[in-house]
Amino acid sequence: MQATEKVKYIIVGQGLVGTWMSYHLESAGISYKVINDPSIQSATSVASGVMNPVTGRRIVQTWMIETILPYAVAQYKAIGAKLNIHIIQCAPIILIHPSEQMQESFEYRMAHENIYLFKQDPSKWSPYFKMPFGTGAINDCYWMDLNMMTTHWKNYLQSNKKLIEAHFDCKELTINDNGVSWNNIAAEKIIFCDGTNSMNHPYFKTLPFAPNKGEALIVKVPGLPTNHIYKNNVSLVPWEGDLFWVGSSYEWSFNDSTPTASFKEKMISSLNQFLELPYEVVDHITGIRPANTQRRPFVGLHPLYPQLAICNGMGTKGCSLAPYFTHQLLEHMELGKPIEPEADLNRLKAILKEVK
Ligand SMILES: Cc1cc2nc3c(=O)[nH]c(=O)nc-3n(C[C@H](O)[C@H](O)[C@H](O)COP(=O)(O)OP(=O)(O)OC[C@H]3O[C@@H](n4cnc5c(N)ncnc54)[C@H](O)[C@@H]3O)c2cc1C
Repeated sequence: MQATEKVKYIIVGQGLVGTWMSYHLESAGISYKVINDPSIQSATSVASGVMNPVTGRRIVQTWMIETILPYAVAQYKAIGAKLNIHIIQCAPIILIHPSEQMQESFEYRMAHENIYLFKQDPSKWSPYFKMPFGTGAINDCYWMDLNMMTTHWKNYLQSNKKLIEAHFDCKELTINDNGVSWNNIAAEKIIFCDGTNSMNHPYFKTLPFAPNKGEALIVKVPGLPTNHIYKNNVSLVPWEGDLFWVGSSYEWSFNDSTPTASFKEKMISSLNQFLELPYEVVDHITGIRPANTQRRPFVGLHPLYPQLAICNGMGTKGCSLAPYFTHQLLEHMELGKPIEPEADLNRLKAILKEVK
């Protein structure tokens, strides 16, 4: 089909990554169109929206956090200012240690190479939680209202005629020497920001994706302060009004994305163990994280088809990684700047094959 419209980039997907990719293009004044299928549930819509600088049972710093976190905070504030909404909130994580082992782990980290941890007065939290193993806290944590951000950005794209609500199928994509075309749109490059959908199309399906299912409950907890995040065996994250997001699971092996009774029972049992306040479960949500076996994003151009780019594989850390790596991809495509080697798609060029 003859293309009737020309833009520099087509973006597939408007979850967290597609939102950031299009925001950076918009800020740079570069033309683009976003294709998003609203009937496909995004991981972003069920994510708790937390950026936490430490991770795991040993409470160690996450990868590149000293670079990525300040950049992400500035960018969430900037997109909020552009859309005239408040997206990001600094919200320390209050740790309600679930065991003696976790309490010891916290004390150890407090004494060794600690930047983010600090002590808490347990009496401040005793009206809300049972705390047989004491408390602690993590600084420099942030909570973002991702649904508000993606909805307002979608409205912005729509009112500027930059969003096409449609299902993208690779069979409809034409690749030529000058770029790509899809339906009646021609572009120099197409950027795949379509989460787990990239596992299905021919160009990137050999990447080591390892989708991971996550479930969460939405719970009403009247009286629990909404300016903190709470973490025991489960996390309680402010969601909306007096609602909290409670989760999550990390399942590498699953048959479908439906909610499970076993997860709900597990969450209720945990809440009963550590929460002093009455609560009511109002919803049960699930999503599939676009994770991968290397725990590093896929960012860059296809080595055999430089008209195709990808920014994907954000796993459990999309909130902090997406603003930074979409910007790196933009600077790579526009200015030839290098991509962080651990994230660069080039590391996987041996497994990206020609599509016949
Ligand atoms: C329960 C849960 C909790 C989480 N909590 C956090 C957290 O607190 N902090 C954090 O950093 N990360 C968290 N994550 C991870 C985070 O959600 C992901 O890293 C991130 O949302 C991935 O964004 P994405 O844009 O790559 O994918 P997605 O959000 O899945 O977006 C993909 C988009 O592509 C569109 N699409 C797909 N296929 C097509 C097609 N064929 N045609 C057109 N459009 C298409 C979809 O409609 C969607 O809008 C959580 C994930 C889950 C499941």
